[in-house]
Amino acid sequence: MGTVVDSGKKEANGSSLSEKKVTVVFVLGGPGSGKGTQCTNIVEHFGYTHLSAGDLLRAEKESGSENGTMIQNMIKEGKIVPSEVTIKLLQRAMQANNNDKFLIDGFPRNEENRAAFESVTGIEPEFVLFFDCSEVVMERRLLGRNQGRADDNIDTIRKRFKVYMESTLPVIEYYNSKGKVRKIDAEKPVEEVFEAVKSVFTPLHEKVA
Ligand code: UDP
Ligand code: MG
Repeated sequence: MGTVVDSGKKEANGSSLSEKKVTVVFVLGGPGSGKGTQCTNIVEHFGYTHLSAGDLLRAEKESGSENGTMIQNMIKEGKIVPSEVTIKLLQRAMQANNNDKFLIDGFPRNEENRAAFESVTGIEPEFVLFFDCSEVVMERRLLGRNQGRADDNIDTIRKRFKVYMESTLPVIEYYNSKGKVRKIDAEKPVEEVFEAVKSVFTPLHEKVA
């Protein structure tokens, strides 16, 4: 699987990143399902650190990295960037942060991402928060938002939907078979969706604020 960076060690009770024990929640759902919006709410209420794989890749591209052009092309085509690139960015971000609770948003996007992350970091997610939303609604949201993203145009959106259906849904199925998926109806208004999200997180963490 290419270069392995800082291989993780599994501990008896929880997962570790080098020496640090961390809790990871994967946040998955189609493009425009509201992952980023709800992650912001979760950060505020439950003290997680939000790591968006897409944002990390966009920042890496902006930083003028040698992978910049490749990343830009993959994003423009709605394709999945090679695991080692994304995993390295996620690992670095977790190591640079003192928090021990992370929301990993928009990753893993395919089986290879999933397996590589697990073997490189030794981390298994606590659970997978899954935002379930129809394509009609997701498409309307993506076309309606104006964040200057190179991939929020109808051609790329169609490609992203296809990759999501073919590659990401099987990952959600995999975790579902392990009883790890917490499914949220993501078509409702933001506040109602967050109520459902809260009921997933509240039993785990007594509310901080
Ligand atoms: N991307 C990727 N690997 C990841 C996350 C994102 O290759 O782990 C790329 C991919 O091309 C994707 C784009 O970045 O289409 C945007 O991802 P993001 O999660 O920001 O968008 P969303 O799924 O929320 O529409
Ligand atoms: Mg996002």
